[in-house]
Amino acid sequence: MQIRWDQQYAQRTSRMSSSAIRELLKLTELPDVISFAGGLPAPEVFPVEKISAISQRLLQEAGPQALQYSATEGYRPLRELLAQAASQDGAPVTVDNVLITSGSQQGLDLLGKVLVDEGDTLLAESPTYMGALQAWAPYGASYVTLPSDDDGLVLDDLEAVLQKRPKFIYILPNFQNPSGRTLSLARRQYLIEATTRYGIPIVEDDAYARLRFEGDQLPSLISLVVQQSSDDTGYTGHVIHLGTFSKILSPGIRLGWIIAPAQLISKLVQAKQGTDLHTPTLTQMLAYEMVRAGHVEEHIPLIRNVYRTRRDAMLAALSEHFPADVTWTHPQGGMFLWATLPEEMDSSKILEEAVQEKVAFVPGVAFHPCGGGENTMRLNFSNASPEKIHEGITRLGQVLSRQKSA
Ligand code: PMP
Repeated sequence: MQIRWDQQYAQRTSRMSSSAIRELLKLTELPDVISFAGGLPAPEVFPVEKISAISQRLLQEAGPQALQYSATEGYRPLRELLAQAASQDGAPVTVDNVLITSGSQQGLDLLGKVLVDEGDTLLAESPTYMGALQAWAPYGASYVTLPSDDDGLVLDDLEAVLQKRPKFIYILPNFQNPSGRTLSLARRQYLIEATTRYGIPIVEDDAYARLRFEGDQLPSLISLVVQQSSDDTGYTGHVIHLGTFSKILSPGIRLGWIIAPAQLISKLVQAKQGTDLHTPTLTQMLAYEMVRAGHVEEHIPLIRNVYRTRRDAMLAALSEHFPADVTWTHPQGGMFLWATLPEEMDSSKILEEAVQEKVAFVPGVAFHPCGGGENTMRLNFSNASPEKIHEGITRLGQVLSRQKSA
């Protein structure tokens, strides 16, 4: 008898969906399409030589250990290093607060597995990171959202939302994916003050923190909560912080981390055991050796320079080729910017025509858990060369002008 797999699925599977947008975006992987749709780092800047040299030495000197199973919590020297870095950054945490994950995407999934019950409401920015929505959908999360402007999340209605007691707040404070916006210092302070008053935890997803190429660095939420606490108790656990090596070293090594209260780390460890036992020992040891040798720190300025040049190329091309009534953000770092079209335009429809013209982006609706954003689009500037960016934005500008006059 033939098995009907669609009838075997668990109920939660119905909450996993492949959207029409994703299907369309598959077309953008064709070689002659200039895609601003992905979120890929520039491959030209991967430190291939250094990774190769360190890997070779690692395998020669500690091959059996690097190829063996290891602790779910992660490679201890790497956890210690991350705890030290967080402490230097103003969040005095210990190794017991650090869990290494297989990319910060796994961190999001584990948080869903451990914290989110069906029907739980989460407070998110609108727009927000699509991967988090995808991670938490199967666990039955629902959302209440607050809008964002050039200073990040708009907090005017925060108290009203906190009174409804969302399970946690999910926020990307720096060069947010998808908008490229950064949460201002005053708003960071108010967010900490209000959420500590209500006892609502924050999940700070700081994937892009190190990619600032303009302006002054702002304190992370996890460090601010310590600064603002009156009794100087150190890390209170109010903020859970997610970090990743994907944007500063390589996404292919799948290495991220969660900083959380030790009690929560123990639960996340149990959840991770059921998922993958542990993050690959080899890549953890590799990242540790890369950091210790100073290769990651020396590499970051190079990434920043390349991305600044590409952002500038995109900003210049947008000014030159986009219709006058389209606006866009001016990110001070990260990999994305966000364009807003006139109210009546629908970026999903525009994508269909753009793909014909061999240029792509992600329509903004995909990033809005409660709907809206039909007239918005996310544009990635990290992956294509300045020449390609210019050509792609020219094509897209032509599509927009045609749609407007249609
Ligand atoms: N969070 C955010 C905000 C991201 O943009 C990404 C990558 N697109 C991730 C998490 C996941 O990254 P990774 O799993 O590669 O660490």
